[in-house]
Amino acid sequence: MAGINLVSCQASNDASCSFFDAPAALRIQLHSPAMHHHPRLAGTPNNFAILQHLTLDMTLVSACLCGIPCRFDGRSKPVDRFVKMLRCGKCMPFCPEKLGGLTTPREPAVLSGGNGFSVLDGTARVILSDADGDVTNEYIRGAKLSVMYALSINPESIYLKEKSPSCGVRCGVNMPGVAAAALIRSGFRVEAVD
Ligand code: SF4
Repeated sequence: MAGINLVSCQASNDASCSFFDAPAALRIQLHSPAMHHHPRLAGTPNNFAILQHLTLDMTLVSACLCGIPCRFDGRSKPVDRFVKMLRCGKCMPFCPEKLGGLTTPREPAVLSGGNGFSVLDGTARVILSDADGDVTNEYIRGAKLSVMYALSINPESIYLKEKSPSCGVRCGVNMPGVAAAALIRSGFRVEAVD
């Protein structure tokens, strides 16, 4: 069954909102159309209708663009429009690298040997830029969870931060990034924001 963990905000040692820290926080599992068959939702058929209503015309946005400090350096890249949308409940932020289990701050990483599609196909890697280390598995995990997130919400639009090994679409080395590639491959149209 396809599904996604929506994680509530709670206190965390992490510098960024634990909404994205799937392993550490409380999770509410929202399942795609079959969710109304979930044993915990049996007898409450309106839950799926409520979810559909809540996410109607929803926009997914790279969390750092909404002002959430989830970047590798512990900072965000706020864009007014998305910060306002988040405040009004008009968009849902997500951070593929956090979904993949990485912390903030974290070592910066780059795509090596190909773009995000190649990483998904196992012919390229994601390596640390300034140290020895391979974070390919975390990036792939984050990309897959991002797709599950998008499938659960069926967003009207997806806006992604450029120049990121996860979210980058066109600008940067070996683009698209891993999460952007996974979303594109799953049929979602993504918009690049620099
Ligand atoms: S660009 Fe994407 S992966 Fe990087 S911090 Fe922003 S939301 Fe997270």
